[in-house]
Amino acid sequence: MIKTRHQIKYDPTNCIGCKLCYKSCFVDVIRWDEEKKQPIFKYVRDCEHCYYCMAVCPKDCIQVLPNLESQSFRQSFDIYHTRKED
Ligand code: SF4
Ligand code: SF4
Repeated sequence: MIKTRHQIKYDPTNCIGCKLCYKSCFVDVIRWDEEKKQPIFKYVRDCEHCYYCMAVCPKDCIQVLPNLESQSFRQSFDIYHTRKED
C-alpha cells in the first residue's frame, strides 16, 4: 500500500491497468507509467478531492481520504450545514 503525502492511497495489487483513473483526473495529479501499466500519483498536492479516480476504479485500488484543509472540502461542509439549517 502506497500512501501519498496528500491523502491518496493506492494499492496496485488488483490493478488491471485500465487507465480509467488516469483519464478521469482533470488536473495533473495522476500520470501513467507505461512500463508498469500503473498510475503514478505524482502531483498530489494539486488534488481537488473530486473522488472521480476512486469512483471509476473497477478494482477499488484507490482511496482518496477527505482533506479537511482543502477548499473544496470546506465548501462542501458549509453547503451541507447550510442546507441542514434550512
Ligand atoms: S480525487 Fe480527483 S483530482 Fe484528486 S487525484 Fe482523483 S481524480 Fe484527480
Ligand atoms: S482505475 Fe484502478 S484498475 Fe484501472 S488503472 Fe487505475 S488503479 Fe488500476
